Amino acid sequence: MAHRMRDGAADHQHSIRGASLVRQPDMAESVRSNPEMRRYKVMAVEIASERAIDRRIYIEELAPWLPARIIDCHVHVGLKEFWGPVSPERARSIWALEVAQENSWEDFRRTCSSLFPEQRVSVIAFASVAREVDIESANEYVRAGVADPANDAVGLFATRPEWDAGLIRDAMLQGFKGIKPYPDLAMKDTLETSIYDFLPREHLAALDEFGGILMLHLPRSGRLADPDNVREVLEISDTYPDVTIILAHVGRAYGLTTAKRGLPHFIDRESVYFDISANLNADVFQCALETIGPGRLLYGSDLPVTLMRGVREHFGEHYVNYTDGPYSWNTHRKSAEEEANYTYYLYEQLRSLVSAIKKTGLGRDACDRVLYSNCARLIGR
Ligand SMILES: [Zn+2]
Repeated sequence: MAHRMRDGAADHQHSIRGASLVRQPDMAESVRSNPEMRRYKVMAVEIASERAIDRRIYIEELAPWLPARIIDCHVHVGLKEFWGPVSPERARSIWALEVAQENSWEDFRRTCSSLFPEQRVSVIAFASVAREVDIESANEYVRAGVADPANDAVGLFATRPEWDAGLIRDAMLQGFKGIKPYPDLAMKDTLETSIYDFLPREHLAALDEFGGILMLHLPRSGRLADPDNVREVLEISDTYPDVTIILAHVGRAYGLTTAKRGLPHFIDRESVYFDISANLNADVFQCALETIGPGRLLYGSDLPVTLMRGVREHFGEHYVNYTDGPYSWNTHRKSAEEEANYTYYLYEQLRSLVSAIKKTGLGRDACDRVLYSNCARLIGR
């Protein structure tokens, strides 16, 4: 059986943040007999700063499924200096605030070549959005990075609800492809808020004029299954038909019951997409593949937060994040042996996607659509 690499090279060496990894074209019998592990065998791995577990998962579990080109529709870029102080109460109430405040364009490119050494990754990028962030500076940083072809990126414009809709028109004329509002900016100290509290209708009308993308993080504790969320998203898609709606994190359906209740409302909504970012639940992905199909699911990473290492355990509609990170909320730890085998949340997310695709009986084509071609269609690549 001939060895084929997607880039045509028969055998090559990657540098991964100081790690040197050599791939050997011939395969051991155990690999040969398993079509999903068909191509690669690690001959020699010298890991400097990275863990061997990362390389093993990439080579054995992910690389056989990943297309040569990937579009990541959900990446936060920005610098720490855009953040004001985060109070301890806020850090406790939003766990991700403490995990990742900085992801420069350079960081992001380095992460891509480290985690996806054989793929070309394009990106839809936007600021980290929270009330502590200087959003004007953060938007300008996104705009400048998008202008650099080396970043292979398009940008979304982070919005505050009180802003004049003219700012959105200006941003779209500057080259932004859409907007990223955020429930936190409704300044309500509760998630029980209407979408319109942080995304006024005038903003939607401006976005609709340009046929832009709306990256929407749903509010309300009922998430994708909340009847008011469902009603409002359907109303937005009816009223602003040229807006492409991406519901982030599968509409925050981290548990299967929420996914099962919420997803069927959107079966025929061609303008409503779901990104799989920061969702690690294979059952939810399977439900999305079976209910919505692979044509309106989009790969998103939610980097940099998903560089956190660990595992997520799901209990009905709740989940527990386990990690070895130095966060104030990280008080429930697993054993040192288990922690030593933690890989990136992003790799765990992709493992869950692959597992869901296998269970549904879909093949690599579904993976290609989710990781590349669906989003390529949206951003004209
Ligand atoms: Zn995000």
